[in-house]
Amino acid sequence: MKLPFVRCCALLVPIFVSLFAAESPPRPNILLIVADDLGYHDVGFQGGRDIPTPHLDRLAASGIRCTDGYVSYPVCSPSRAGILTGRYQQRFGYEFNPKWDATAATHGLPLSETTLADSLRSAGYTTGAIGKWHLGAHPQFHPNRRGFDEFFGFLGGGHRYLPGSIVEVEVGAGKKGTTSGDAEQASPLLRNTTAVPEVGELTTRLGEEAAASVTRHARNAKPWFLYLAFNAPHTPLQAREDMLKKFAAIADARRRTYAAMVATVDEAVGRIVTALEAAGQRERTLIFFISDNGGPMTKRNANASVNSPLHGQKGDVFEGGIRVPFLVSWPARIPAGRTYTQPVISLDILPTALAAAGATRAAALAPLDGTDLLPFLTGKNDSAPHARLFWRMDGGEAFAVREGQWKWLRTYQNAPQLFDLATDLGESRDLASARPEIAARLAAASAEWNRDLIAPAFGNNPFGGLINRTGLEKNPAP
Ligand code: CA
Repeated sequence: MKLPFVRCCALLVPIFVSLFAAESPPRPNILLIVADDLGYHDVGFQGGRDIPTPHLDRLAASGIRCTDGYVSYPVCSPSRAGILTGRYQQRFGYEFNPKWDATAATHGLPLSETTLADSLRSAGYTTGAIGKWHLGAHPQFHPNRRGFDEFFGFLGGGHRYLPGSIVEVEVGAGKKGTTSGDAEQASPLLRNTTAVPEVGELTTRLGEEAAASVTRHARNAKPWFLYLAFNAPHTPLQAREDMLKKFAAIADARRRTYAAMVATVDEAVGRIVTALEAAGQRERTLIFFISDNGGPMTKRNANASVNSPLHGQKGDVFEGGIRVPFLVSWPARIPAGRTYTQPVISLDILPTALAAAGATRAAALAPLDGTDLLPFLTGKNDSAPHARLFWRMDGGEAFAVREGQWKWLRTYQNAPQLFDLATDLGESRDLASARPEIAARLAAASAEWNRDLIAPAFGNNPFGGLINRTGLEKNPAP
């Protein structure tokens, strides 16, 4: 007897589905952890010794440490806009921190941009954001409207760590006082759009929320994406008493508190990895860990961080502002205990995550600048992921280019400089005069890249201009 075609297909479909399920590993969970203003040297896996970070070191040992891992901007908010879009954020005018103002409809991630969470949610992922948002305080920019099913955290660029504490915000050179930043630091903690009481030290709580999210979603069939954006160890310098006691041997009170804050981030990461292991999901979880920019050592919001052996700091296009601790761990697919030395950038996280998820972006979306790193990290492709990486700051007041060993940069009114990072990681010997042909090539490449960028769509310079001609010294936000 012949089966009708439709019935035949109906019988075969479950067989194909079961075969497919048996042969295909489950899609990975994706955990993107971002620290805030963390010094390049201030974790154990980067060579730091005075702040033990056993959980982060274990994470590094479980995957690949990228020695030349960059972010696309040396301050918080534009860097995060790059991370979540995979695009140089100057393409869409995102070149300053946004105002802390719920009525500022232009100060945030433009609604024309698509986030990593948008794409993963379209691909069937459960998506969550925990911690610092800082991509616009206007309701239209809320994480729940930018691809995240769940949100727990705060919308501004920073937050006090200890409930009820008074935070004095720096308002000028060496001066402290009251600005809208104080309200930002004390803004409500939100679960989605509902304010919840502040209880306990904030970094600890963010870690607990993330671990609970891991445990909760492990019961679901759907894979998940969690964006865990700590505000630590950004100022204000505040930490738990028990953590401060662990670092009593550090004489400098600011460094002691900073160390306690970094250790609290480490403890939180340990709590999350423990939850993953308890749920049996560590192997199938792709984890990224980066800082959003280099440590601020002497400028506004300095936090006693150390970027050694790099030159410069947050707010600079020198290496200390843009090169960050950068880990990728996925036990099921990526080798453990390796280092990767080709330049990579935070813009690569989005295409890497989408490739891992088997998700594709809609063709109509604007092109990415990032590259899928999986072929490179798994050894299938031994060329460099990027011929060149680029930076622009403050609407064109500073530029930098990385090409292989070479780093070209121009800052404000200074003459362009050229450094050979292979022999001069600390950017101390300017070779622009000695190697004019390389300097000219990279200057031309920078100018060509710049042609595709637009002017800043918003600024927060309280001194009048959109473009801040003296750099971050006058930029009041985090
Ligand atoms: Ca930051």
